[in-house]
Parts: sequence; structure tokens; C-alpha cells
Amino acid sequence: MNQGKLIVFSAPSGSGKTTIVRHLLGIEDLNLEFSISATSRERRGTEVDGKDYYFLSLKDFKQHIKNEDFLEWEEVYRDNFYGTLKSEVERIWTMGKHVIFDIDVSGGLRIKRKFPEQTLSIFVKPPSIDELKIRLKNRKTESEEKISMRVSKASAELATAPLFDKIVINDTLEHALEEAENLVRDFIKS
Ligand code: 5GP
Repeated sequence: MNQGKLIVFSAPSGSGKTTIVRHLLGIEDLNLEFSISATSRERRGTEVDGKDYYFLSLKDFKQHIKNEDFLEWEEVYRDNFYGTLKSEVERIWTMGKHVIFDIDVSGGLRIKRKFPEQTLSIFVKPPSIDELKIRLKNRKTESEEKISMRVSKASAELATAPLFDKIVINDTLEHALEEAENLVRDFIKS
């Protein structure tokens, strides 16, 4: 299990990393495949099982932890577990592709520690906490309570930015997309 490269995007929820990851996935010559995480949280809106996430019951998730099936996992919010299955990375490397991750800060740093040479870790920074609140509200997918849970976690996450290989500031989306593409392209070529 050591073939392709690993591109990690981490950021506080609402910073725009998912938009960046989706954009990169659309650029064919980068040869990237999305790492579908497993989660015990409820399915949101238009999300599809096996595409956005592998949605598992809390019980099944905990069984996978016991079986050591995860490369990394995290209880990102209370009773909401998220993790990368080892089988997911193997699936993508078998396809001859590089893996791109949209995961939380601790998970991202853990992958970097496990595969230091093969991993490019990128932190996506929102312009400010206030802007982050506005983006989460506009998304209209979570309750007020869930939004404040995500915002209070964001401050702690922002402090970890210097631990990443690179930081992309998502001030204007166009600028962030271009910078992210250049970083990934250079790393894949190296
Ligand atoms: P959401 O509920 O908004 O889809 O995701 C919540 C947070 O969990 C996001 O920061 C997301 O990046 C993170 N996350 C998603 N998948 C994984 C994973 O496999 N491992 C870890 N550690 N975090 C994840």
C-alpha cells in the first residue's frame, strides 16, 4: 500500500475546502480520486451513500474501529464519527490514481504523519471567523445550534494551520482554486 500520492485538504467547516476539492477532481490530468470517508452522522440533503460518504450506524462504525479498519478516525462532533478506511485508499491506488481527502484537521495531520513523503497537506483558511459564520448560515443545511458548534470548533482548528505543508487563503474563490491547483500540480510532478 504505497503507490500514489495523498493530497489532504483540511479546514474548519465552511471554509470552502469542499468546493476546492470538487474543482480539482474535475481536472482530468491531475488524476485524482476522492477518498470517500465513513461517517456515523446523518445524511444531509442531496448526499448519496457510497458517493459523498459511506453512512454507517454508530455501532458499525465502532466495530470498524475495533477491527482496526481505519487509517485514521475522529469523533469530529459528539457521536459524529468520521474516518478513512484503509480499503478506500487501497481502492484508489489500485485504480492507479492519487487520493484527495476532504477531512478534518486532526485526521489530515495524522495522514501526513503516517505517509510524510507521499502526502501534501493543505490548510484552507477562511478570511475571518465572521465570514465563516455567514457562509455556514447561507448553506442552510444545519440548525443554529449546529452552526455555533462548528464555529466554536473553528477557532481551535485555525491555530493548527502552521502545522500544514501549505496554507491557501480562501478570500476570493477564483484565487483559492488557482492556488490550490498549482500546489497540487507541482507536488504530483515532483
Ligand atoms: P461534514 O459533516 O460537514 O460533512 O464534515 C464535518 C467535518 O468532518 C469536516 O471538517 C470534514 O472534513 C471532516 N471529515 C470528513 N471525513 C473525514 C474523515 O474521514 N476523517 C476525519 N478525521 N475527518 C473527516
